[in-house]
Amino acid sequence: MPFVVQKYGGTSVADAERIRAVAARAVATHESGNDVVVVVSAMGKSTDDLIKLANDVTPNSHPREMDMLLTSGERISMALVAMAIQDHGVGSMSLTGSQAGILTTDAHGHAEIIGIRGDRVREGLAEDKIVIVAGFQGVNPETRDVTTLGRGGSDATAVALAAALQADVCEIYTDVDGVFTADPRLVPGAVKLDEINFEEMLEMASAGAGVLMARSVEFGHRYKIPIHVRSSFHGGVGTWVKEETMEEAIIRGIAHDVSEAKVTVHGVPDAPGLAARLFEPLADAGLTVDMIVQNVSRQGVTDISFTVPRIDLVTAEDVAKTTAAAIGAAGVDVDQNIAKVSLVGAGMKHEFGIAGKMFRILAEHGVNIEMISTSPIRISCVVRGDDVAAAVQALHDGFELGAEEEATENG
Ligand code: ADP
Ligand code: ASP
Ligand code: MG
Repeated sequence: MPFVVQKYGGTSVADAERIRAVAARAVATHESGNDVVVVVSAMGKSTDDLIKLANDVTPNSHPREMDMLLTSGERISMALVAMAIQDHGVGSMSLTGSQAGILTTDAHGHAEIIGIRGDRVREGLAEDKIVIVAGFQGVNPETRDVTTLGRGGSDATAVALAAALQADVCEIYTDVDGVFTADPRLVPGAVKLDEINFEEMLEMASAGAGVLMARSVEFGHRYKIPIHVRSSFHGGVGTWVKEETMEEAIIRGIAHDVSEAKVTVHGVPDAPGLAARLFEPLADAGLTVDMIVQNVSRQGVTDISFTVPRIDLVTAEDVAKTTAAAIGAAGVDVDQNIAKVSLVGAGMKHEFGIAGKMFRILAEHGVNIEMISTSPIRISCVVRGDDVAAAVQALHDGFELGAEEEATENG
């Protein structure tokens, strides 16, 4: 029997009416002859509300208790969706991540899925039930504590479940019609893509396109699970994320990320080993450093800048200050008003001049570039945070990614 995993994001389960709509769609899919597993996010913005509530209670919440709190969001929506399905006279059962056998590392707040038992999901399906699984959560087999997978983690739950249970497809239902050439909330002329390959989607997601969590794309790629990103508001076809696309695009899309901050260590003595002494303690503190720039050395000293997720800025600044003092650097500055804009496209590999054109477009719009990094299919620039909307729009126009440009181009 065909087998589909459907994941519904926060907006898609935001109220009773939306929950009934999710149930109706899952039931229709089941009645047309599919096994159906539904993965749900917490209702609306309730994860944000729970985080705010915890911060109001104490700024020092323990990560274990934070996960106990946050996993409750998905628990509410999973039970409500199961009830709404039962209302159609169709069997349904909800399971927490732990009950579904989603095993994770013990890294509270950003745990990784290390295995999926899934027995109870299989049992439910064998009884012809629609099984609802709470997204974004699992359990660590050693500590037996529940964990969360990081923001947007329900996408990872869905694709990992699809892989473990060998589903034919993972459908991601969300509040936009698919994956667009840029965030449609920032660029009104952004165009929905019919398809995008896993590598491009992974670069887009890692560069800030929050429509899919990057880890979910990794699972899809590794286990060859086609992902269909589509609207939960209508039945239209969305975007297929898959192994290969019909056409190779030079630029598939533009992603932006406003969630990082920049740390600069000034006056670092220019000697072997000092970069290692700076970055090793950051890694030991569990920080993910994204971009790094080292300036040309003058009079034996240099400045080193790097970016980190803004939520980790306090830790990064502390660690950098301690190291700066130990290695005799002049001081540490932080800058929260930065953004990263990235061009992504698999065809970039075979094309000259894309970086130059990107920098030219930004220059013509008065956008200063502060840092640059590249992969074979991505070019990213750090710019002032205030410039991000203008930069994304200018690149979208300059690389002619909008529908109008296409129409003019085609005559
Ligand atoms: P959900 O709650 O359904 O998981 P998210 O808010 O996590 O929804 O993801 C959907 C959002 O992703 C959209 O509302 C859109 O603003 C944003 N987004 C960012 N980049 C893109 C893109 N390239 N294509 C589509 N949506 C994007
Ligand atoms: N509810 C979680 C979040 O808001 C997980 C998810 O929605 O994917 O990040
Ligand atoms: Mg999401």
